[in-house]
Amino acid sequence: MRIILAPAQCLEHEERFKRFRRLCQEGDRINWSCQKSAKPNDIYLFYFAAPKLQISAIGVVAGAVDEVENDGVDWATGKKLWLCDFAPAIWLKNPLTAAEIKLQPQLLRWWQGKPYFGKPKNIVSPEVARLLVEAILRKNPDVARAIPQLGDKISGSDLPSLSRDVDNDNAPPDRIETTIQRVLRDTKKSADLKTKYKHACQLCKRRIEIPGGFYIEVHHVRPLGDPHAGRDTLENMLVLCPSCHVEFDKLAVGIHPDDGTVIDLHGKRRGALSFRKGHRLGSAILGSVSKQ
Ligand SMILES: [Zn+2]
Repeated sequence: MRIILAPAQCLEHEERFKRFRRLCQEGDRINWSCQKSAKPNDIYLFYFAAPKLQISAIGVVAGAVDEVENDGVDWATGKKLWLCDFAPAIWLKNPLTAAEIKLQPQLLRWWQGKPYFGKPKNIVSPEVARLLVEAILRKNPDVARAIPQLGDKISGSDLPSLSRDVDNDNAPPDRIETTIQRVLRDTKKSADLKTKYKHACQLCKRRIEIPGGFYIEVHHVRPLGDPHAGRDTLENMLVLCPSCHVEFDKLAVGIHPDDGTVIDLHGKRRGALSFRKGHRLGSAILGSVSKQ
């Protein structure tokens, strides 16, 4: 049994967050991405980047892992998506935010290792997993009743609601392994597109250098998920800096369907998107933009 920290959403995808939340709230079982190696009783801590960076849900792997052919959404391999049932899948009434995580020195050191932007697989220490679970349970004591297995993970802690489970556990504690895995977002496709543009904004050409590389986002022109049903395909994607990305998301700017220039709310020309070889927006996608 392991605890997996699973980034379930990259910075630009609030739709995915909303859908996940809705599924959790509709019932106690959801079908969602998991590691290929997921085993029943693995505990997933789902963290999302919207509306802010936080651990928003906990799910327990309940069944076998299904392999799904997919188009753009990947789980580690870039070609396959792995799905399983999480039961229960609990939406945290009080999510654990990045700001709170950073208040604890041990967690801060781990967090500064850039778990979100890091390599697909980073094993972090059992201590980090324990501290994360403790912090989540402190804010959401009801979760301990719904997922009693969590008690095994934090034996020795002073959480009264878990003492019964701890006392009855004579077996040596399981090794806690927390792996950092990208679940659904920041797919190989979007990563490749970012590279194609050398991490520069297609609109303003800005390139943001951060420690260890560059930061840039991928915008879906036609939003993913209901009701827009946009696809996670290159012809629906733009590489944008956070500033331009917000303008697109909030409809402060749009793409003129006739000539592809970017115009603002007042119809004033903001500029032209630059496109590199092998990338263009689909005509159907531009059509949908003009109707918004
Ligand atoms: Zn920009």
